[in-house]
Amino acid sequence: MGGKVIAKDSLGEFVSKLSERYRIFGPRKKGTEWIFDEVRSAEEMDLRYSTTILPPRKFFIPTSERIFSFKMDGGVEEPEERDGPSLIFGIHSCDLNALLLLDMVFLEGEFPSPSYARRRERTALVALTCIDPSENCFCESMGTGPSPAGGYDVLLTDLGREYLAESGSRRGEEMLALAKGRAVTAADLEGKAKAIECAKSKFKKKVDLKGIDELFLRNLDNPVWKRLGEKDLACGICVNSCPTCFCFDVRDQLDFPMVGGVRYKEWDACVLLEFSQVALGGNFRRDRAARIRQFIGHNLGWGGASQFREFKGRAKCVGCGRCIRYCPAGIDLTEVVKELRGI
Ligand code: SF4
Ligand code: SF4
Repeated sequence: MGGKVIAKDSLGEFVSKLSERYRIFGPRKKGTEWIFDEVRSAEEMDLRYSTTILPPRKFFIPTSERIFSFKMDGGVEEPEERDGPSLIFGIHSCDLNALLLLDMVFLEGEFPSPSYARRRERTALVALTCIDPSENCFCESMGTGPSPAGGYDVLLTDLGREYLAESGSRRGEEMLALAKGRAVTAADLEGKAKAIECAKSKFKKKVDLKGIDELFLRNLDNPVWKRLGEKDLACGICVNSCPTCFCFDVRDQLDFPMVGGVRYKEWDACVLLEFSQVALGGNFRRDRAARIRQFIGHNLGWGGASQFREFKGRAKCVGCGRCIRYCPAGIDLTEVVKELRGI
């Protein structure tokens, strides 16, 4: 696929042209943090952002969504999707790789989701090489960053006064045709390689993945889980901020006087007590220790092992660092791995 080098001064014009074709969502500063939000110009985005509070999965799996409306006499109506093409601008490598993992569940898995497939299809992705990882990031050790190997339409890499823009799809080629820029030289590709090496030197955290599934399975009764269970607040922030968590609950909301209702699904979290509640009040993960072990184990340990076939041997965690950054109890899964290894 081709590429262009775009002067930073010309990025605004490029975004403006893209906005004629797409609804654009980009990283925007909110207080001391960042969110992915709708933008109409390049000036509204902060492309030096660290991590957004919620990952871009919110665009593909909304926090709550109607599956269908029903009438008690038998009528069922599915919601109509009227949204046009959209574009996520500036998605980091970890979050892009998270989408590729979600694709394994919702596009290639046993129960594909038509609504997820529609949203993926209509959403273009402009990725961004991460040149300034935050103190909690560890994507390099998870093999998901700091620059993506694929899965994007366009990949931007900051070269100082210019962006190297590489297309990764036919849609990306069409998008780049709208940008003013010059041809890519060998020096630009070298500049990209240097930017990636420089980013790699900044990581402060890492996870050693060697034998990690066996490590977790051997340590199901390790006292570390009891200690973490005592610290854990069961608030659900870690799961809600995780770009690869995909569990949901299905509920019915009945109209009064019960002539019909709505069936909807909403995000759920394995760290919450009700998640594992079954009929007659049974609960197979009543302890917070068991629930935090499930969250960390699914992300780093048995997420890639045979019980969870959807990830085909890959860890579910992409090393975005959000669960560490936002956990009010200071629980850090990279430290948990070290403790299990006795380091
Ligand atoms: S487990 Fe934590 S670090 Fe890993 S992807 Fe989820 S939020 Fe990011
Ligand atoms: S964010 Fe921290 S305290 Fe809250 S549920 Fe997750 S691990 Fe527990």
